[in-house]
Amino acid sequence: MAEDPGLHDVTLPAGPVAWPGGATAAATLGFDLDSEDVALTVDPESRHRLSAMSHQAYGMLTGVPRVLDLLARHDVRATFFCPGYTAERYPDVLRRVRDAGHEIAHHGYLHEAMAGMTREQEAAVLDRGLEALDRVAGVRPVGYRAPMWETTYQTAELLLDRGFLYDSSLMDSDLPYELAERPGDGARSIVEIPVAWALDDWEQFAFVPELFGPGVIEDPEKALSMWTGELTEAHRHGSCFALTVHPFLSGRLGRLRALETLIETMQSLPGLWLAPAGDIARHVRSLDLTPRVFPRPEI
Ligand SMILES: [Zn+2]
Repeated sequence: MAEDPGLHDVTLPAGPVAWPGGATAAATLGFDLDSEDVALTVDPESRHRLSAMSHQAYGMLTGVPRVLDLLARHDVRATFFCPGYTAERYPDVLRRVRDAGHEIAHHGYLHEAMAGMTREQEAAVLDRGLEALDRVAGVRPVGYRAPMWETTYQTAELLLDRGFLYDSSLMDSDLPYELAERPGDGARSIVEIPVAWALDDWEQFAFVPELFGPGVIEDPEKALSMWTGELTEAHRHGSCFALTVHPFLSGRLGRLRALETLIETMQSLPGLWLAPAGDIARHVRSLDLTPRVFPRPEI
């Protein structure tokens, strides 16, 4: 691996992206299958709290079956980012997701944030997650979303070494792009499908006392209003609207109704391509974009 040259120059992303089949904008629905793991990684002792565990179990036990029904009713395919621990704890649910034709992508093992990990530690988490998805569902994912969207400057290289096509954890654009694994000649690139905190249901609905901080419980109509506003602007600008939802949060009835309304709006927008993140990444790869470089800032 080349030395980090310490450049300050950040390459601008290519754009606008040409979408396939006459589409003028894109959208993707990502369901992050965080379960007990997201609590255990914050506080392992939370495993003794049955109510907190049951709150986390709601997503796989109750939310995902409803989400699958909703997506089937609207003939929508989505991406399910699954921690290895979730796969092992709820194998039948994950296999239902697979059998419904949705994309399954990697989301860590115990929902570990990668910040501060050594290369070996980060690689071990990736491999443990891959092994779990393979063992439970026979899936070799092409996509990765970092737990807590917390990646490192070595994540892209580790993903490329394992055959991944895309990552969906960064926030510097609202268009997909190719990210160089490092500055310098000969670097490979990975497709990046950017995300945004404002397009995540965690900030709207996550309330688990003593586990996730203060937390909020917003009106689903408020979240729907905000996301609809972002969606219509993404559509107007030819961008890619990437929504992140958690079945343990958005699988609740009123919130799922709001999500259904958002899907109906997506399907009413002319020229909006609604597809799993993997399909979007494969299209972006076909565009042969010049990879952008994002060197680590020097101070
Ligand atoms: Zn997550």
